[in-house]
Amino acid sequence: MYCAAGAEPSPPAARAPDPVHLTVLSSGSGGNSILIRADDTRVLVDAGLTARAMTERLVLAGVPHRSIQHILVTHAHLDHARSSGILAKRHQALLHCPEAMMRNKSAARSPRLAALRPGVPVLLPGPGANSEARVGDTQSHTAPDTLAPSTSAPRASGAPAPLTATAVPIPHDCDPTVAYAFDHGGRRAVILTDMGEPRPALARRLAGAHVLVLEFNHDERMLAEGPYPPLLKRRVAGVGGHLSNTQAANMLRYLAGPQLHTLVLAHLSEKNNSPDLALAAARQTLAEMGLDGVRVLAAEQHEVGPNLRV
Ligand SMILES: [Zn+2]
Ligand SMILES: [Zn+2]
Repeated sequence: MYCAAGAEPSPPAARAPDPVHLTVLSSGSGGNSILIRADDTRVLVDAGLTARAMTERLVLAGVPHRSIQHILVTHAHLDHARSSGILAKRHQALLHCPEAMMRNKSAARSPRLAALRPGVPVLLPGPGANSEARVGDTQSHTAPDTLAPSTSAPRASGAPAPLTATAVPIPHDCDPTVAYAFDHGGRRAVILTDMGEPRPALARRLAGAHVLVLEFNHDERMLAEGPYPPLLKRRVAGVGGHLSNTQAANMLRYLAGPQLHTLVLAHLSEKNNSPDLALAAARQTLAEMGLDGVRVLAAEQHEVGPNLRV
């Protein structure tokens, strides 16, 4: 810890950060979106419903009119990116995505785009912050108004800790696809969906979550015996597809730690999974890890989830 010496006036004590909150607005192949709130900063991860449906969910979550500052997209599939650009324009929000996604039709509708670089934490300033002043690097831009947010913008003494997001590339049949870790005042929320197979090595960069949103897409037997055509079954089960309950439980072993208090099962298939099967797989794994106290919820496609304090 740094201490001022002599008669120098003490610096103001750092303000305790307000808690960060996470709300799943929609989850599943019909559209995905998660709201992150910290202090007065409001961030959307994905906007996979129509703009109208997204607006309805934001109202239900108590978000004031046009008050999102940042939209982060995990990948270009429509169930994640559908209204991302339109919403960014309406909210005058900065849309963050991997550079390779910027020409995607959905994202490109945003007048303001920022390129995400894997593994590099991005500051997400709240309302009133001057994004232009935070431009901290000179990577090539693909849109006239594109900004590259600084990873090292100075912070006024006593100011609350900033909210940051770190993107981690994951295997999926839409390149690039990323997972996100959000950090704020020592608290961490991780969002990991649309992953073709478990990759324990990735867990090192996504570990330490207090709230973890993890894909539990399908039950292997229900998928095999279900209504999908053979080609689609192979795609869902393949390395470019989605995590089964068993694969997700394996990934959970690497991601879950003693600080985890809430696990949200996400992107459940309505045809090839049931909440009961997914919840049972998750609870059994947590019990085997000695983490029986973790709250486990299944995210909904058609309802806004609870406001979770991270
Ligand atoms: Zn998806
Ligand atoms: Zn996808």
